[in-house]
Amino acid sequence: MHTPIAQRSKLPNVGTTIFTVIGQLAAKHQAINLSQGAPNFPCSAELIRFAHEAMLEGHNQYAPMSGLPALRQAIVDKVEALYGQRYDVDSEVTVMASASEALFSAVTALVHDGDEVIVFEPAFDSYIPMIELQGATPVVIKLAAPEFAIPWDEVAARITPRTRMILLNTPHNPTGTVLSAADVARLEAITDGTDIVVLSDEVYEHVVFDGEQHHSMSRHPKLAARSVVVTSFGKTFHVTGWRVGYCLAPQALMDEIRKVHQFAMFAADTPMQYALAKLMAEPGHYLGLSAFYQQKRDLLSQALAASPLKLIPSQGSFFMLASFALLSDESDSDFVQRLIVEHGVATIPVSAFYRDGTDQRVIRLSFAKDDATLLAGAERLCRI
Ligand code: GLN
Repeated sequence: MHTPIAQRSKLPNVGTTIFTVIGQLAAKHQAINLSQGAPNFPCSAELIRFAHEAMLEGHNQYAPMSGLPALRQAIVDKVEALYGQRYDVDSEVTVMASASEALFSAVTALVHDGDEVIVFEPAFDSYIPMIELQGATPVVIKLAAPEFAIPWDEVAARITPRTRMILLNTPHNPTGTVLSAADVARLEAITDGTDIVVLSDEVYEHVVFDGEQHHSMSRHPKLAARSVVVTSFGKTFHVTGWRVGYCLAPQALMDEIRKVHQFAMFAADTPMQYALAKLMAEPGHYLGLSAFYQQKRDLLSQALAASPLKLIPSQGSFFMLASFALLSDESDSDFVQRLIVEHGVATIPVSAFYRDGTDQRVIRLSFAKDDATLLAGAERLCRI
């Protein structure tokens, strides 16, 4: 082995993501995997056929940098139909190589060295590192179990002249909360008259339960004017491995985001864009998704009714939380490890979504799994 060259980490406090760590441990112990928010059931055969046809037809070279025109058209039509906001198909929508790339490009393009970005914890684990890579300061506001509500007075108090961005996620990973009309009204009032950008991660936009409405920033014109809305085809069409998402933003913001996107990925995967454009042409392709996942949420909740875990209701996303505070004094990481090793079920410790490891003795369960897996996992959890 050569002597390593000297180098300084840009992310000294970052290890391997929790999803990889738990996924490997789950595989090693052949645990039933309720950890990652990735479906273990197939996408539609039609979608695969469309992608295959696109490849056979020779659509195997670079797509346009901003995305396939037919797909951008399908996106802006859907957004207008659902949320009432008309984005310009040429300048205000960009197809990205995943929602992660969209978030990364937006933060890189819009956040400067020395800026502050308000971010809520528990936070998806990429958010804070993305901010830190820009030399910006994450201003972390903690949401507390079991409600995980946004403390808007604290948000207002922590805005400074350096606040450049507020990073939101609704429906929320990992808590399963969704923003309400009242939340949106507070956000609108707090940002009014400022130059703050709202970066809104809405990858679970079509997975909202109990008849509630998804409050996309694009539904609210004043917020849409300052927002970058990010979403994902992977979540909507059960193809998280395809890595195709998109973002919407007013042109002035989008111009900057595209400058980063063109040098990061240049374009998203071509045949996948053809396939997605064809599937999106079917009206209402997303309409059944909330009911589909609500059935899974309810199946898992009912099957866990006899378990010693205390479930925290989920309003949307692929996730629900469960407290084990009455069951054990262990840290959530130790508890999760023991569930995998001794009980054969993998979940995610919620402390992984807090930079300082705040441990509320809560674990995250993914119900983006086939029913047999949900029932088998629940049966094991009932035996702890
Ligand atoms: N978004 C998914 C989750 O939260 C997967 C994340 C990942 O594996 N990087 O489980």
